[in-house]
Amino acid sequence: MSIEDRFLDRLPTALRDRVRRDVPLRDLTTLRVGGPAALVCPADNPEQAHRFHEAAGAAGLPLFALGGGSNVLADDRGYGGVLLHLTGRTCDMRGDAVTVSAGLGLDDLVAQTLGAGLTGLEFASGIPGTVGGALVGNAGCYGHEIGEYVREAVILTPGGALRRVGPEAFGFRYRGTALRDEGGILLEAVLQLKRGDLAPAVSERAAHLADRLAKHPVTEPSAGSWFRNLEPLEPGGRRRAAGELLDQVGAKAMREGDAAVFPKHANIIINLGRAGSGDISRLASRMQAAVRERFGVELQPEVRTLGPGAGAT
Ligand SMILES: Cc1cc2nc3c(=O)[nH]c(=O)nc-3n(C[C@H](O)[C@H](O)[C@H](O)COP(=O)(O)OP(=O)(O)OC[C@H]3O[C@@H](n4cnc5c(N)ncnc54)[C@H](O)[C@@H]3O)c2cc1C
Repeated sequence: MSIEDRFLDRLPTALRDRVRRDVPLRDLTTLRVGGPAALVCPADNPEQAHRFHEAAGAAGLPLFALGGGSNVLADDRGYGGVLLHLTGRTCDMRGDAVTVSAGLGLDDLVAQTLGAGLTGLEFASGIPGTVGGALVGNAGCYGHEIGEYVREAVILTPGGALRRVGPEAFGFRYRGTALRDEGGILLEAVLQLKRGDLAPAVSERAAHLADRLAKHPVTEPSAGSWFRNLEPLEPGGRRRAAGELLDQVGAKAMREGDAAVFPKHANIIINLGRAGSGDISRLASRMQAAVRERFGVELQPEVRTLGPGAGAT
């Protein structure tokens, strides 16, 4: 019996029927790059995620949690483990608290909460991807980060236990969390919002969406900013945009095959159509080397990579 069959064998029939085999990762990531994922397991709720995780562990297969795939470079060779695709999209609002599934689109959440008169998340308008991806990466922009709003969450620990935890369990930092570093999986979260002044929040949302439309690739496949912004020079200071340094080394003119730097933003790589993971990686290395040579600064990637044998997230 193959290792994949051992995995499938451990699932109840209803879950086994949900598993899709050999799904191209280019169809699951916004950069539209990547070969086949051996076992794609859509989980609509914590219990399903738990069962898939358990079966992967028992079969000895690695597992990678995927949300909207908007911050991932997937390898052309694909992924041989279990891809836990978080697809639950429920959103329940009580008072000022919102209980939301990991798979709901972050921008959907912003629209739904504003629609219900709750303010706070308007800063995140237009960030692609899911609530789960945003929380484990502490997504942010325009001076805020999503971690500021977390009250509690349901997670799957690396050891496979379902736990209800508080915000301290995340270890939030700039564009990252200890939870993701350790291989924890976010399944559901409770966010604390406010019944604030709606009109400014709604116009802030409109302004951010317009700004993104003007400056970001909205139709071209991309994974957002490739590199993290630089550490502030003094405590509490502002981070320097990696894009500024990249602009100064002429990154906007760089291209490798069908992988190119977005002409309006030097820190974003776009796929012009047929870019492979090798083209993207070569281009990112060239961008990094140009900044290293000119400024002596080592840019750190923000985008995560998913290769054939990657382990837990
Ligand atoms: C045009 C564009 C603009 C962007 N603008 C911004 C921006 O302004 N600010 C910003 O912060 N980001 C931005 N991004 C990057 C990206 O949208 C965010 O990082 C987003 O939060 C990723 O969510 P996702 O669901 O797509 O995660 P994925 O890409 O699916 O996954 C990213 C990482 O998180 C892990 N992960 C995903 N879901 C879970 C989960 N439930 N539990 C555990 N691990 C999980 C994955 O394993 C992977 O390591 C932008 C991207 C694009 C394409």
